[in-house]
Amino acid sequence: MHTRDYQALDRAHYLHPFTDFKSLGEEGSRIIERAEGVYIHDSDGNRILDGMAGLWCVNLGYGREELVAAATEQMHQLPYYNSFFKTAHPPVVRLAEQLVKLAPAHINRVFFTGSGSEANDTALRMVRRYWALKGRPDKQWVISRENAYHGSTVAGVSLGGMAPMHAQGGPLVPKIAHVRQPYWFKEGRLGEGRSQEGSPQDPDAFGRDCAAAIEAKILALGEDQVAAFIAEPVQGAGGAIIPPESYWPAVKEVLEKYEILLVVDEVICGFGRLGEWFGSVHYDLKPDLMPIAKGLSSGYLPIGGVLVGDRVAETLIEEGGEFFHGFTYSGHPVCAAVALKNLELLQSEGVVARVRDDLGPYLAGRWKALEAHPLVGEARSLGLIGALELVDPASGERFDASRGIGTLCRDLCFAGGLVMRSVGDTMIISPPLVITRDEIDELIEKARGALDDTLARLTDPILH
Ligand code: PMP
Repeated sequence: MHTRDYQALDRAHYLHPFTDFKSLGEEGSRIIERAEGVYIHDSDGNRILDGMAGLWCVNLGYGREELVAAATEQMHQLPYYNSFFKTAHPPVVRLAEQLVKLAPAHINRVFFTGSGSEANDTALRMVRRYWALKGRPDKQWVISRENAYHGSTVAGVSLGGMAPMHAQGGPLVPKIAHVRQPYWFKEGRLGEGRSQEGSPQDPDAFGRDCAAAIEAKILALGEDQVAAFIAEPVQGAGGAIIPPESYWPAVKEVLEKYEILLVVDEVICGFGRLGEWFGSVHYDLKPDLMPIAKGLSSGYLPIGGVLVGDRVAETLIEEGGEFFHGFTYSGHPVCAAVALKNLELLQSEGVVARVRDDLGPYLAGRWKALEAHPLVGEARSLGLIGALELVDPASGERFDASRGIGTLCRDLCFAGGLVMRSVGDTMIISPPLVITRDEIDELIEKARGALDDTLARLTDPILH
């Protein structure tokens, strides 16, 4: 079959996730046929550097035979069994043990799910159940952040803070509130939304203001009504938003002052993205619950879960009775076997430490240099996640959103052989953690090329 045959079938039958169905039908999809290392190949024979590790998940890169072998072996041995009715199987218990070894010391238990969204649904039900068991059934509110992403299930959308998602398919899950996000470039430096408690010009003061907004929300709702605060260590889908250094210490202080559980969504930051096994380790957080997914299996098979800290786990176990919650694919044996092998490889190859000590700092230096480009208002990165904020060179301010400059840059990037994602006019990378320095150089040059091409389109009266 040729590209156009796949595109015809795609147009006729496939409703894609997060897609304007009509416009995709008009344009046609790019068909990805195979991949190896950090490169994907499309059906027209193009080889493209995957600067997004699929969807922030292919941490070990593509084509790892060890993962294929682990899946094959487990398929032969036991392709499926559940763990609902007092049963378990070797891969799931071994994976639980391994995860707990890697997690902070106060975390000793895991609940498995099929995805990150299901993990966040599970976290929501767990925190409310925890407080009910503690005799505090009124503690139901969960505080999240504007522009957070926690998934696409009804609870995931409700916990998330994406306004366009909230606007569709409601009503949402009740008793979830959102506070401002620690997005310095947008709300601090550019001053968007400055009406919110007057953002100062200094990132650290701004970070503390954002933490203060959590405290204000706790007090407005009533401490005795608030169950938990949920957040990604670095917001991913919102725009690779790295909070100011002051933010997390101040948030920790607020949460410690009141009796409120901390849920740290590690779906993107977990498994090495920030140069530690978990984003919580990088920021020295002590979460009660950590939803995980994506990098857990390097995306080779769908698996997620919630790492559960002792305070919650012990209450659920000692006082809980049956927890009426679980999925057919909770702890799926083949997914668990692949995840286990993935963790083993991340460890034996020293991938996480290399991100922290070598690749992260190397990328940071090269990425920051892109700030010299006239289109770039800020270049930021941490570990192997990064963002470029595109601005109008004439004013240093954002372009009018309707011009779709981010989308243009993304398309030019793709055409130039690099996958970089756009969130509005913020360009994002999150490459596989096995990327080499040479491949980082290639990524940077291709990103620079896409910026040049974007600028050329803006300034060329014929092209524009
Ligand atoms: N949480 C975060 C932080 C995510 O980035 C995502 C997915 N991008 C999810 C949850 C949802 O995960 P899934 O798509 O596997 O349901």
